[in-house]
Order: sequence, then structure tokens, then C-alpha cells
Amino acid sequence: MTTSEVSDEDFQEILAQTRTFVRTAVVPREQEILTDDRVPDDLREHAKKMGLFGYAIPQEWGGLGLNLAQDVELAMELGYTSLALRSMFGTNNGIAGQVLVGFGTDEQKACWLEPMATGDVVASFALTEPGAGSNPSGLRTKAVRDGSGDDWIINGQKRFITNAPTANLFIVFARTRPADDDGAGIAVFLVPADAPGVVVGTKDAKMGQEGAWTSDVSFDDVRVSASALIGGSEDIGYRAAMISLARGRVHIAALAVGTAQRALDESVAYAATATQGGTPIGNFQLVQAMIADQQTGVLAGRALVRETARAWVSGEDRRIAPSAAKLFCTEMVGQVADLAVQIHGGSGYMREVPVERIYRDVRLLRLYEGTSEIQRLIIGANLVKAAQGDGK
Ligand SMILES: Cc1cc2nc3c(=O)[nH]c(=O)nc-3n(C[C@H](O)[C@H](O)[C@H](O)COP(=O)(O)OP(=O)(O)OC[C@H]3O[C@@H](n4cnc5c(N)ncnc54)[C@H](O)[C@@H]3O)c2cc1C
Repeated sequence: MTTSEVSDEDFQEILAQTRTFVRTAVVPREQEILTDDRVPDDLREHAKKMGLFGYAIPQEWGGLGLNLAQDVELAMELGYTSLALRSMFGTNNGIAGQVLVGFGTDEQKACWLEPMATGDVVASFALTEPGAGSNPSGLRTKAVRDGSGDDWIINGQKRFITNAPTANLFIVFARTRPADDDGAGIAVFLVPADAPGVVVGTKDAKMGQEGAWTSDVSFDDVRVSASALIGGSEDIGYRAAMISLARGRVHIAALAVGTAQRALDESVAYAATATQGGTPIGNFQLVQAMIADQQTGVLAGRALVRETARAWVSGEDRRIAPSAAKLFCTEMVGQVADLAVQIHGGSGYMREVPVERIYRDVRLLRLYEGTSEIQRLIIGANLVKAAQGDGK
């Protein structure tokens, strides 16, 4: 893996440690995470010490420096347990962190990336608003220059913001002018959570992923200095969001594969031992067929994720494949989880059984970082555009 800061040998060590952490420390605590709706502090500290808050942040800025091909291998391990674990450091490494890594000035990176990599700072990506989710170019949060100086004043309302209740920093997308021929008119700002006028709403009550928190965030005359404008340019925001989301889609696809593997493992273990009329249900060919479909989905998803990450790292495709991988893998894990509940029969509907949690947890993967419909639109539009000679 020539384009990574991390050698294959070192990476295998990181991967093995992560696998051990997930399977021996987190899997046994899944019920606790679910019931308490929080990742226990000792697991959080463990993840911090392992460098998991900054695995995709370059080493220069204090992170582990994994590239996306390595990131997806790690994500497939993290997907094996409660998705709340990954969510805890997902925004630092992913959607929020990559905006800074890709577009921040050296000063901005030096100020924020190091504490993010250690986990001392949690950063949230604040793009979605009421009426501006699938189509963020319609966002209405406004940033205007203060007439008397270089400061910016931000006003607006964001919703469903992951990690907002624990965030120290918001990466806030705001309109500085109406969209025009030069671009979407959207800039992106670094807004500390303790800035006057930042109001974090109460934690949302969600369908699944207990332990991963979201909430509304509103910005009421929030004043930030010129140095808070990411990249020092008003025209960076929309492109930064799109690139960060495209990269994030490959990661989400990998996470889906990891969870599908877990649902498969739970299903096989159950089918091999649970009996009906004295016969293990796994001996029934219709149950074997369900397991076969699960296994096929996992193998196809894993291959697609690895190929997509390779093409991202080489620069060959950063548009179509990320959407295709997210579309396929998140739909696939939905089917695999559904089959897992079916294989477990009535037990699969019970709270303490892992596949019940998985069934609810994975539903989100088809919604955030672009719904399945939006992925189809991206794939279709880019293919047609290329055929019409518009380039990629
Ligand atoms: C738990 C959770 C965590 C989240 N975390 C974050 C976060 O950290 N930061 C952040 O900024 N956002 C976050 N989001 C927001 C998430 O990205 C959006 O909810 C998602 O993009 C969908 O937008 P929406 O909810 O406005 O739905 P809508 O865009 O209103 O979609 C509703 C339906 O309409 C369809 N649709 C919309 N437009 C089109 C179209 N043009 N063509 C065809 N169909 C269309 C959609 O596919 C969907 O089926 C999170 C959401 C959730 C639920």
C-alpha cells in the first residue's frame, strides 16, 4: 500500500489490536451500551489510547495516518459490534475531520486536528437542516461579515447532527451569498461548541444505534473570527462537503459489510444449534438457503468495498464507485439483517438477541451520508454526463 503513511506490517498490528478490542472488550458490553444508551467511559478511554479517534488523520497532525484502503479494513472490524462505538470517533476521522484534512489551512489543522486525533476534541459535521438534507445546496444557515471588521456572524438551524451533544467543535456549513454561476455560495466554518449563541438541543430519541447521539444545533448570532473560515475561502464549503461525504460513503459501505458478517455469524451459530423436533434448524435446506444468501451478500460487499477503496486511493474513481458501494452494501446489510431475524424465529424479535439490535442499527446506513435514492442519482447522472462528453 504505497500511498499510505502506514506500512502493511504496522497496519496489520493496528487491525489485529482493533479486532481484539472489538471482539473481546466491546461485544460482551453490547447489552450495556444498548440499555444505558451510552458507550461506557472505560471503552471510550481504551479507544482513545488506541488512537481510534484519529486513525484517518495524517501522522503530521497526530493521527495514525491510515489511507482509505486501510480505513475500510478497520471499518469492517468496527462494524462487527454496536455501531455506537464507531460513531463515537466516526465524525473526527470522517465527515468532520476530512473537511479539515482536505481543506483547512496549516494553522487550522495545527489548532484542531491534534486534539481531535487524541480524542480530546470531538468534532461534528453540521450540514443538514430542515428542508436541506438530500439537497444541501438549499441550506439556509447564513454567515455574514460583521460590518465593522473581519468577523463572521452565523445564524441558522441544523438537525440530526451526530455527536452534537458531546461535540467541542462544529464544522458548520453556511451560506455567504446566493448560489450563482461561480458556485453554491456555501462556506464552511470552525465553530467551537462553547461560542456564545451555539445551542445544542436535547438528544434525539432514535430507532437504533443506542449510544450514538444526535441532536439539533442552532446558531444564534454566533460570532467567529476570519480565521474560522475553513481554507480561508468562501467558495470551499460545498465542494468540501461533497468530497468528505463521498469518502465517507466508502467507509459506511465497509461498516455495513462488517455488520453483515456479524449477522451472518450469529445466524450460522444459531442455525447450527437451535432445534425443532430434535433437528437443528440449520439442517433444513430453506434455512441453509437464507444463510447462503447472507454469505453471498457479505462476499460481494467485501470485494466491492476493497475495489472501491483501491480506486479512491489511486484517484481512479472518487464519484461513481463510492456511491455504488454505499448503495449496494447498505441495502445488502438490510437484507442480511432481515434474514438473520428470520433465521432466529421469534427469538430474533427479542431485545437481548444481537440480531434484533443489528436489524435496527443498520436501517440508518441507508439514510445518512446520502440516501439510497441519492446514490442512484449520483451514479446515473455521472454515467450519462460522461457519455455526453461532459467529462467525469
Ligand atoms: C441518526 C442520524 C445521524 C445523522 N448525522 C448527521 C450529521 O452528523 N451531520 C449532518 O449534516 N447530517 C446528519 N444526518 C442527516 C442525514 O444525512 C439526512 O437525514 C439525509 O441526508 C436525508 O435527508 P433528510 O432527512 O432531509 O430527508 P429528505 O432529503 O427529505 O428525504 C426524504 C426522502 O425523499 C427522497 N429524496 C429526496 N430528494 C430526492 C430526489 N432529488 N430524488 C429522489 N428522491 C429524493 C430521499 O431519498 C428520501 O427517501 C443524520 C441523520 C440521522 C438520521
